[in-house]
Amino acid sequence: MSEKIPRLPDEHLGRAREIVAEKRTKQKCKVCYDRGYIGTNQDNMLVPCSKCVDVEGVMEGWRAYVAETPALKELYGDYFEDEEEEEGTDEGEDKGEGEGEGESEDEGESEKSDKG
Ligand SMILES: [Zn+2]
Repeated sequence: MSEKIPRLPDEHLGRAREIVAEKRTKQKCKVCYDRGYIGTNQDNMLVPCSKCVDVEGVMEGWRAYVAETPALKELYGDYFEDEEEEEGTDEGEDKGEGEGEGESEDEGESEKSDKG
């Protein structure tokens, strides 16, 4: 099972580049030629350069942008919606074994010696 992510409309790439530019941590970078991103992936998403860009910051910024852009929220809402809800309920499956009433029948050894 592979999740299919819709392709990013080109019109939003500009904003993506801006977000990346805002999160750059170094001025000079040989990896991305100072662009801040390596390129785009198969989903037309900008791939930030991890050498000179705060990738987590970019993700945060991008999520915020998606949240405030209805068109993008429609496309990616499922992927960027709050996933941070902690699931604390752990439902055990095997339940119900609690009965301890089970007297084991011990047949005492009865020695019967019939010796006459
Ligand atoms: Zn770089």
